[in-house]
Amino acid sequence: MADRPLTLMAVHAHPDDEATGTGGVLARYAAEGIRTVLVTCTDGGCGDGPGGVKPGEPGHDPAAVAALRRKELEASCQVLGVGHLEMLDYADSGMMGWASNDAPGSFWGTPVAEGAARLADLMLHYRPDVVVTYDENGFYGHPDHIQAHRITMAALEHSGLTPKVYWTTVPHSTMRRFGEAMREFAEDEPQPERSEAGSEAEQMPEIGLPDEAVTTWVDTTEFGGRKFDALLAHASQGENIFFLRMGRERFTDLMGLETFVRVRDTTNAPLPEDDLFAGLR
Ligand SMILES: [Zn+2]
Repeated sequence: MADRPLTLMAVHAHPDDEATGTGGVLARYAAEGIRTVLVTCTDGGCGDGPGGVKPGEPGHDPAAVAALRRKELEASCQVLGVGHLEMLDYADSGMMGWASNDAPGSFWGTPVAEGAARLADLMLHYRPDVVVTYDENGFYGHPDHIQAHRITMAALEHSGLTPKVYWTTVPHSTMRRFGEAMREFAEDEPQPERSEAGSEAEQMPEIGLPDEAVTTWVDTTEFGGRKFDALLAHASQGENIFFLRMGRERFTDLMGLETFVRVRDTTNAPLPEDDLFAGLR
């Protein structure tokens, strides 16, 4: 066996993505004694400011938002038991089409090779056995999520050491349950009218994958409370309030199973699998 601890590295775009997408596996594997490394690529400066000030509104100060979100990220890592937090500190690019996409220092505007070289250095340092990031669409199209995917895949090519690589995904069956929860808990949002084109909730199954395409289903329900508390640490961000309204039990019921598609594997662990480290221990 290797002379170093088994290591999980999760590469995320913004402070709070670690909790939503991989809070369960980070908490579970940390509790199992696996070394956990979180790489957060941007400072989250395009998020909500104190008091819910939105980007572009008067009084929104990206530097102050970034400072607040860094504290929240550190608190989230504490809750999840993340052993190592590495911040690449690129400027948050904001949603696709925003002027911030091309602002100086933005993650989206950074050449992939440059970001990948920094991430490859971290991979050479930690030598992760498992790396988790987003798919090529960043799951839902956010430029920083797409860029996180690109630098991760390029860094993996460069370092060439990681036996198992995963992209986070959500099976369509869960997306349908997610749509139901949105109708129930997102009470501030205008309810989509049912139309011939279908409501927003009905269209949601287009995100994620058919259940049979999901390779890896990790039960993290035991750590649902921790995942909830990690998101609670990011309470300044309005989009998280929807999750927090559910309460721990409903949240764990909906979000306790974390799902992935395996895109690289040198272990020949049979699929489907229920453990990111299957074949490695
Ligand atoms: Zn994000």
